[in-house]
Amino acid sequence: MTSLDDIPVTQLKGVGNALAEKLAKLGIASLQDLLFHLPHRYEDRTRIVPMGNLRIGDVAVVEGEVMKADLIMGRRRSLQVTLRDNSGFLVMRFFHFNAAQKNQLNEGVRVRCYGEVRPGRAGYEFYHPEYQVNPPPMPAEGEATLTPVYPLTEGIQQPRARSLCQQALGYLQRFPIRDWLPQGFLAEYQLPGITEAVQLVHSPPTNAPVNLLMEGRHPAQQRLVMEELLAHQLSLLQVREQIQAREALPLLPTGDLPERFLESLPFSLTGAQRHVLADIRQDLSQPLPMLRLVQGDVGSGKTVVAALAALQAIGAGAQVALMAPTEILAEQHLQNFRAWLEPLGIRLAWLSGKVKGKARQEALDVVRSGEAGVVIGTHALFQNEVEFHRLALVIVDEQHRFGVHQRLALREKGVGGALAPHQLIMTATPIPRTLAMSAYADLDTSVIDELPPGRKPIETIVIPDSRREDVIERVRGACREGRQAYWVCTLIEESEALQCQAAEVTAQELAERLPDLKVGLVHGRLKAQEKAAVMEQFKVGELDLLVATTVIEVGVDVPNASLIIIENPERLGLAQLHQLRGRVGRGEQASFCVLMYHPPLSFNGKARLQALRDSQDGFFIAEKDLEIRGPGEVLGTRQTGMMQFRLADFERDKGWIEPVREMAPGLMAHPDIVQALVRRWLGEKIRYGDV
Ligand code: ADP
Ligand code: MG
Repeated sequence: MTSLDDIPVTQLKGVGNALAEKLAKLGIASLQDLLFHLPHRYEDRTRIVPMGNLRIGDVAVVEGEVMKADLIMGRRRSLQVTLRDNSGFLVMRFFHFNAAQKNQLNEGVRVRCYGEVRPGRAGYEFYHPEYQVNPPPMPAEGEATLTPVYPLTEGIQQPRARSLCQQALGYLQRFPIRDWLPQGFLAEYQLPGITEAVQLVHSPPTNAPVNLLMEGRHPAQQRLVMEELLAHQLSLLQVREQIQAREALPLLPTGDLPERFLESLPFSLTGAQRHVLADIRQDLSQPLPMLRLVQGDVGSGKTVVAALAALQAIGAGAQVALMAPTEILAEQHLQNFRAWLEPLGIRLAWLSGKVKGKARQEALDVVRSGEAGVVIGTHALFQNEVEFHRLALVIVDEQHRFGVHQRLALREKGVGGALAPHQLIMTATPIPRTLAMSAYADLDTSVIDELPPGRKPIETIVIPDSRREDVIERVRGACREGRQAYWVCTLIEESEALQCQAAEVTAQELAERLPDLKVGLVHGRLKAQEKAAVMEQFKVGELDLLVATTVIEVGVDVPNASLIIIENPERLGLAQLHQLRGRVGRGEQASFCVLMYHPPLSFNGKARLQALRDSQDGFFIAEKDLEIRGPGEVLGTRQTGMMQFRLADFERDKGWIEPVREMAPGLMAHPDIVQALVRRWLGEKIRYGDV
């Protein structure tokens, strides 16, 4: 039987090749694709507002007759059409228009238009409003419906999108959409069937509750939201299945490397570290690739856990790759692992984009020959020219930037290209539970939910930058008492060059203001060796004050540093600030974090800095960040499309996460359903694993 999925959009009136091509760019080929391009909001155009009642910023429908239409020359040519009703006037202004439009808008013609009120030179104006000439009568009150707004752009205007969807709805009766959700589930949650839901959302009936629809909480919308979240969950489980369809080298704990390492440490593991290690040890022993996410707050000791996982692999005769998202963090790991593993007779290799020439060749050689047990680096680790000897474990210290498709690609890098390596993903900061369950559905999770003993709380102070003098004095005082301090410069510009410049200027200023202190500077543009040298000087206490860009946000570990100043914290996310703050509070002394903001703070900005001042619990802070800024920001993946939904809104809809997570594994036994739902909601994206 034919289904909506088999009917091409060209069946619709007015869809020729040109439009079909535009639609194809939006991933719309069939009528079903079109109907799953859902309105992401509604406009209330059920009433005509008298022009005399309009206020700036109102979004409204007005109706009146054309008084005059003038071509205005000026800086930008525009068509200015003045309308009037019996309460006042309004100007429609068009910067793009054609002759037909101009000729149609003659004096006395009736026009209904919809737009946002702006102040203009001729009074209140609508720029480029949608309008109708000689409009049909308005539906009577109580008979009008909300107007859907589609997320279409690129050469397809809203009225066109609406009329196409309306046409497509006409097919629904003969070709209902296949409902893949169990009836029992729909009944339990009082959700409508899929066809009914799609119909309602595109064309809300007159009696549908306006508030629910505007907020996205109508059962029809919720039914679709739920299905969308389910489709995302299923797509991640598919990735997991694809990875685990391969075998892995079982890495049985053998030899005494872990014991010898633990004996060399000046501390013993926390209970939480032990639990997480037990999970990892168990996974690594299996002939199935481990897919595990380790979460832990800043300073909870993830690196030691990673090292112990590496030792299990090396003990079993395998090779380990450790990848970090930035050069500076990778270097930090290199230093740690050198200090820890070289005494045990393990050779390390270092590969980053900046390792060139002979050094690079040497590194590649020892990786290929297997002389290097551990390879540490940035993304450069997985370029094609890097050949591993017996890679069986990949540790990703990811700061959330490592995507699903990259996890998939790793399959190919294992022993002989046939055995997939085990994957251990470490997050730099905690991720709220609901978010982790959605964004990392392909991974098992372990949480290090305990800090090493003896950590002193960090006192956080929020002050305006008008008190910069006091702050400089505070730095002087702390350093005089033998402590060390960080001064972090942030800039809103993405440009690394500008950030570095700002840090240079600040470093110079502080060096002049604080002549008895030794001031160092580190930023992303320094050569790796220069950076390492400065960090080393700071570590051994040759520098009192380290001025830095946010490059120091992760990994840097200098216990004697007990004061951190963060300039313009309002520009950073909470998780990032929490990370930065975690650079102090690592030693014996009481530590302080000064958040020196530039007033005025927005309402949200204030709430965020307060959350940081009031809590040091990374999980709590991450929850706040999620509420205030949304999942894309918390995951640091705004650009990659991860967690970007058509309809679902993570905060509003997180109540669905649990039910979806319960339902998904059972559905995996029905590949046809999984395939259909994933295609319906993720479409082309899935082909690139770009979810
Ligand atoms: P993060 O989880 O932020 O990556 P690290 O692994 O960098 O934390 O550890 C932070 C600091 O705590 C390091 O100096 C590390 O050596 C130390 N550390 C790790 N585990 C323990 C422990 N069980 N007891 C005491 N100190 C520990
Ligand atoms: Mg770390």
